[in-house]
Amino acid sequence: MELVDMFDLASSHPILATVTVFAGTVLASELLWKAIKYVRGHKRRLRVHEVLFFNELGEICFEQHRGKSSTAVDCGNNHCSLRKLDKIAALMDEAQYSIDIAIYTFTSKVLWEALKRALQRGVSIRVISDREMVYSTKSQILNMAAFGVPVRGPFTTTLIMHHKFCVIDGKTRVQEILQLKQRKWPRPYESVLISGSVNWTYNGFCGNYENCTISSDEVMTCQFQEEFNRMWMGFAASADKLLQGSVQKSSV
Ligand SMILES: [Zn+2]
Repeated sequence: MELVDMFDLASSHPILATVTVFAGTVLASELLWKAIKYVRGHKRRLRVHEVLFFNELGEICFEQHRGKSSTAVDCGNNHCSLRKLDKIAALMDEAQYSIDIAIYTFTSKVLWEALKRALQRGVSIRVISDREMVYSTKSQILNMAAFGVPVRGPFTTTLIMHHKFCVIDGKTRVQEILQLKQRKWPRPYESVLISGSVNWTYNGFCGNYENCTISSDEVMTCQFQEEFNRMWMGFAASADKLLQGSVQKSSV
């Protein structure tokens, strides 16, 4: 039946016309609501540009926290190390596709828990570390390897892998993952760089004078992602050696 015929039919039957108008209104409302939800869902998350400083004032409130998270107790300390650490974990909690980490020493339980949550959401995590520090006391890198996270690093005695940075949802990495999954349209995501002097350890966050920059700057996130990718490819040949060492030492 052609459209003109349908209109003729509707105009000659008032009840049919009413039902048609009602159905059309319901359909239009449904489509409008879906469009609003789509636009809301694809709104870019807030961009971040901030430097976190860790200093001697960072743990003066620890007695108030007594092992609880910074959100559970409002200590009022603007320098609170726990609050800053939770801020980094919160960025990891918002990762949609990838977290690429280049870290010299990593023992922080808070960040490992955040990374485990990311793994459970299907986020791809890769780690580059130092061949010696992989085995440091309480190293979370061994735990990550046990969870199937690929770990690479330079297998040399002359250079150490001294970086302390992390790229969340780096643009080229997200594109690579989408291509692998054969998906054209990404979920909304925001590339974030976390980088500074601080190692991801208790002393780093709660014992030293350190800095940690968090930024959504497109140029910087791309540059760090590019360097991560370059190292990742460069350390491919030594990955097996590093992991074999990890398995041998962690089983002791
Ligand atoms: Zn505090």
